[in-house]
Amino acid sequence: MRIIRYQTPEGAATYGWILEDKVGEVQGNLFGEYRRREARTPFKELKLLAPCEPSKIVCVGRNYVEHAKELGNEVPKIPLIFLKPPSSIIATGEYIVLPAQSKQVEHEGELVVVIGKRAKNVTAENAKEYIFGYTIGNDVTARDLQKTDGQWTRAKGFDTFCSFGPWIDTDFDPSDAVVTCRVNGQMRQMASSRDMVFNVGTLVAYISSVMTLEPGDLIFTGTPAGVGELQNGDIVDVEIEGLGKLSNPVKA
Ligand code: ZN
Repeated sequence: MRIIRYQTPEGAATYGWILEDKVGEVQGNLFGEYRRREARTPFKELKLLAPCEPSKIVCVGRNYVEHAKELGNEVPKIPLIFLKPPSSIIATGEYIVLPAQSKQVEHEGELVVVIGKRAKNVTAENAKEYIFGYTIGNDVTARDLQKTDGQWTRAKGFDTFCSFGPWIDTDFDPSDAVVTCRVNGQMRQMASSRDMVFNVGTLVAYISSVMTLEPGDLIFTGTPAGVGELQNGDIVDVEIEGLGKLSNPVKA
């Protein structure tokens, strides 16, 4: 099942489920008891929002060998994690805004895990029970500030630096999916999720040994090689085979 969040004509935000090209409202608690209304509204008429509201966004650095190498870094022995603030979230179709403080803003196309159940100290074997589904993400990064700051909060935390969507797929298999990122139609990044250093189960287990994960929380699983600069006027598309496409325009 594919889940979206969208704006109703009255301006409220609501969850919906997709059946072919139609959407039905989801009433109740998406991560608990809910009811699916009949899918009647054409998908293309809806204004999409980011597909959930995470309390936190946990990201994994250097989780693809080739990407660690391209920036001159070692592959970590344990997962390297950092946070992005919820204030950085945008939906598919919304602008990534280049901040004046940076001269080098880059795209990072990534597979994203959506947590479905409170998770603390789960094992890699049981991680699946705590995952609601998967979506597509762009972990936008001010690379120059990442290098100068050491701490990555500013480089990763600007408003509009966390794009994810367009939906959450609850049936997606993350074990071997091709992740690509294109800028103005030109291929920049391409790798299979099977090339991740730490797989999804290991990541959920490790992160939940540090902090309690809540329903709707996100894990950005790291980016493949090929990260590169974004300029005013660009369109950046992150696509995951079998999952969909996330598209954002860029402006200064
Ligand atoms: Zn990243």
